[in-house]
Amino acid sequence: MTDTVLVTGISGFIASHVAAGLLAKGYAVRGTVRNKVKGERIVEALAEHSSDTSRLELVEADLDSDVGWKTAVKDCRFVQHIASPFPMDAPSNREALVPAARAGAMRVIEQAIGAGAERVVMTSSMVSMMGQPGRGEHMRVKEEDWSDPDWKPLTAYPVSKTRAELAVWDYAAAQNVKDRITTVCPGLVFGPDTYDNGGASLGIIKGLFSGKFPMMPRIAYPVVDVRDCASLHIKAMTAEGAGGRRLMAASNTLWISDIAAILRETYPKAKLPTREMPDFMVKIGSFFDTTIKSIVPDVGVFHEADAAYVTALTGVVPRPAKDAVLAAAGSLMENGRMTI
Ligand code: NDP
Repeated sequence: MTDTVLVTGISGFIASHVAAGLLAKGYAVRGTVRNKVKGERIVEALAEHSSDTSRLELVEADLDSDVGWKTAVKDCRFVQHIASPFPMDAPSNREALVPAARAGAMRVIEQAIGAGAERVVMTSSMVSMMGQPGRGEHMRVKEEDWSDPDWKPLTAYPVSKTRAELAVWDYAAAQNVKDRITTVCPGLVFGPDTYDNGGASLGIIKGLFSGKFPMMPRIAYPVVDVRDCASLHIKAMTAEGAGGRRLMAASNTLWISDIAAILRETYPKAKLPTREMPDFMVKIGSFFDTTIKSIVPDVGVFHEADAAYVTALTGVVPRPAKDAVLAAAGSLMENGRMTI
């Protein structure tokens, strides 16, 4: 019998690449959506890019409600819990996203484990690791690093991701099911916008081209290509020793100015920014712009992923960050989301 995998939030950027990878491997995929129209659009986009969608079904479920999750997890051998709110602008209430992220994750995971899923892979984030006071100008991020969700400068998104992942590991320890749960913690996800649904992270590339950032803040995160991030999610379902682990999805680190320089080399006619924003200006800007507020704690810090253990456990070798940046820009040009 074909094994079924539940993919939550299948209409999203990372989830659609995971679904395509699962279908290519012969799994049946059940995807959850909040909005049927959005769901149908992603099924069409997957089919257009050669996925066999005869093994794909959609069910409706919202992380904010219990409705639908019991049916969603039924008979699934594996669960990929990827959905979580990821807004471009940070809500001013730093706890605002916690209900959907934490209670939503618990809804999915409790139902999945209760229904006998062999392993649940949940997409967390490196933001649940990096947000610590006193980390210095160069942080080598390790699997055991945790953000402090009570640290005041952290905004709604990292608070929600950290509280959700902490809750999941507390549950895993209490129920003695650690080996049936793996979290994937991606850095900044670029790569091709194959299904024309690239959300918040591709907004950075679009913003550099559109002139939204005339000056660049000094922030630096590990980058990963969405294709490698998706492969890691899939490997995490079955890799021996991946149960109970937090797998960083991360290649090398780029400053925003490095991303602009990579793009300038390939698109010399584009009006890309050349100047960095002084750190004090980022702080002033954060009073007026919620997008800027969310990066304030990270200004001036070079975050690097200590992620060799991930390749050792799963065999996934993430491609260089430069390739992920160029694939993102190329696809955004191709699907008309960005012009020079
Ligand atoms: P997208 O915005 O493309 O996908 C988010 C998905 O979550 C969408 O399918 C969205 O559904 C769904 N979702 C949001 N809120 C709810 C809710 N209340 N109930 C049900 N579904 C919901 O983002 P990405 O693909 O980039 O992100 C996917 C995951 O990866 C998230 O957990 C994010 O935190 C994590 N991540 C992303 C990184 C990146 O750089 N892109 C980096 C690190 C982690 P709908 O389409 O209906 O809005």
